[in-house]
Amino acid sequence: MPELPEVEALAGFLREHAVGAVIGRIDIAALSVLKTFDPPITELQGKDVTDAARFGKHLALRAGDLWLITHLSRGGWLRWVDNPSAAPPKPGKGPLALRIHFFTPEGATPAIDLTEAGTKKRLAVWVVRDPQQVASIARLGPDAMTVTELEFAEILSSTTARLKTSLVDQSLLAGIGNAYSDEILHVAKLSPFASSSKLDPEAVGALYAAMRSVLSDAVARSAGQDAARLKGEKRSGMRVHARTGLPCPVCGDPVREVAYVDRSFQYCATCQTAGKILADRRMSRLLK
Ligand SMILES: [Zn+2]
Repeated sequence: MPELPEVEALAGFLREHAVGAVIGRIDIAALSVLKTFDPPITELQGKDVTDAARFGKHLALRAGDLWLITHLSRGGWLRWVDNPSAAPPKPGKGPLALRIHFFTPEGATPAIDLTEAGTKKRLAVWVVRDPQQVASIARLGPDAMTVTELEFAEILSSTTARLKTSLVDQSLLAGIGNAYSDEILHVAKLSPFASSSKLDPEAVGALYAAMRSVLSDAVARSAGQDAARLKGEKRSGMRVHARTGLPCPVCGDPVREVAYVDRSFQYCATCQTAGKILADRRMSRLLK
C-alpha cells in the first residue's frame, strides 16, 4: 500500500505535470470506485487543475472549488500516461479503475490512470468541495511529517495499544502504514508489541527521531523517482520490511516476521526485542 512517502511523491509529480492543465473527459472503468455523486464528477470537466496535495495517505487534485480525492488502498497506483487511447476503456476489464484526460497548455493530451491490482477492489475516489467532507480525512490525526515531539508523546500516552498498532492508526497519526512502521520501529530499536503508553521519555524521543528520519529519507528517495511513470509502487532501501529471513542490516541476524491471515510484519529480534521471538498468530492458530 502506498504510504506517506509514495503519496507525497505522487502529489509532487502532479504539481509539476498536471497543474495548469485543463481536465477533459473522465472515464470510469470500475463503477465501485466513485464514492460521491454530488457534485457530479462531470463538473470537473473544463476546469483548470490548480493544485495537488496529500492528506495522510490520500492523494488530492484540486480544480478551483472542487477536489478529486483518492485513497489508493492496498493494490492501487496512479500512473501518468503520455498518449492514452482515445477510446473509452471497457468497464470491468483489467486493473484500470478511472482515467482522467487532460489538455496541457503546450497542446499535449496526457491522462492519469488510477489502477488497482488484485481481486479485492478497495480503491476509492471522492469529488468534494472541501477535503474535510471525506470521512476518512476528517478522522485523520496530526500528519506524521509535521507532528511535534510533544504532540507525538501525548498521542502515545493516550493509548494502551501496542506500538505497531498505534503507529498505523490513522486517527492517531496520519500517513504511516505497515511498511514504514516496521522500518521506524527497527531504527528506534523498539518492540512492535511494546505498550505505547508505557514508553519512557528516552524511548519516545528515539521513536520520534526514527519516524522523522525514516520518512524524510523515503520522501527524498521517492521524489527522485518519476513516481507516476512507474507501473506500481517501488520501494528501495527497506531494512526489515518484507525481508523475512534476510540478514538485519545492523546485526546480521535473520529478520523475523509475525504473520496474520492476510498480512505480516517484520522485525529483528536481536535489535528490537532482546532476542525474544514474538508470537506468530498464524502458527499459534494452527497449533490450537
Ligand atoms: Zn538486528
